[in-house]
Amino acid sequence: MIKHISHIGIAVSDLEAGIAFYEKLGLKLESIEEVPSQKVKVAFFPCGDTRIELLEPTAEDSPVAKYIEKKGEGVQHIAFAVDDLPAELAAKETDGILLIDKEPRPGAHGADIAFLHPKSTMGVLIELCKEKH
Ligand code: ZN
Repeated sequence: MIKHISHIGIAVSDLEAGIAFYEKLGLKLESIEEVPSQKVKVAFFPCGDTRIELLEPTAEDSPVAKYIEKKGEGVQHIAFAVDDLPAELAAKETDGILLIDKEPRPGAHGADIAFLHPKSTMGVLIELCKEKH
C-alpha cells in the first residue's frame, strides 16, 4: 500500500547552489549524504510529510548525470513510501509494470528503494521507498 509521497528527487549539477536556492525559498536543510549505489550526493529538505531530495551526480556514469545530460536540471523522480517493498514490487510486476529494480536496494536515510521503469509509467521515474524512520 502506498502511504504518502516520501520525497521528490530533483537533479542538480551543483549541490551547493541547489541548497542555497531551497534555503532562500524557505526550507531548512536536514542532511547531506552520499549514496554510492546511485552515485549521487543528496541533500534533504523536509516539507510537511515529504521531503525535497536534491541529487548531484558524483560520477559521469551516474543515472542522474545521464538525466542532466539529456534533460537538464529538474524533477527527476517521485518517491512513494510503501509498507512492504518486496510485496509491492511483486504486485507491480504481476500488473505488467516494468521494474528497473526487481530487488530493493539501499537508498539514502537507510531506506530500501526500487525504481519502476518510465516506459510503464507515462514517462515519470517512480521510486518505491521503505522508509526507516
Ligand atoms: Zn529518491
